[in-house]
Amino acid sequence: MADDSHGLVATLGAFGSRLVAPLKWLLYELLAPLRAGDGPNKFRLSSVETHTTTIDGDTGWVYRPPATVQCPDCGTAILQADPRDPIDCPSCSVSLPPERFTELELLALTCPICRTGMQHGQRHPEAFDVPEWATCHNCQYHWEFKHFY
Ligand SMILES: [Zn+2]
Ligand SMILES: [Zn+2]
Repeated sequence: MADDSHGLVATLGAFGSRLVAPLKWLLYELLAPLRAGDGPNKFRLSSVETHTTTIDGDTGWVYRPPATVQCPDCGTAILQADPRDPIDCPSCSVSLPPERFTELELLALTCPICRTGMQHGQRHPEAFDVPEWATCHNCQYHWEFKHFY
């Protein structure tokens, strides 16, 4: 069985001598796993990989997805990647501390995994003036402001 693969390589190698050099090189590269013979042919899933089979998600304001809000002065879209970052308008002099987020018009939330625009909404609009959940319909990432029981 093992000798068969060596014979195959020798046969193909002889055939390859009539090919142009780059093709011959490619042929040897493709056959490299065969020639390796007794290398490891199993791979293990690490514990990290097996845990990511569940849907990605985060809970809590500090994990809020990157948000785009509207500048109150000039209407420019301002990206606030982290909820603890100051809100700095790229077009005018507006610079607001992060707690002023609630006063601004939220234009979009961006999925932190795949960068797709997320669907978002509120569960208690009378109690909170911020988005309370967001879902990415592309990769199924889900964010919740708080756990609800
Ligand atoms: Zn502005
Ligand atoms: Zn996504």
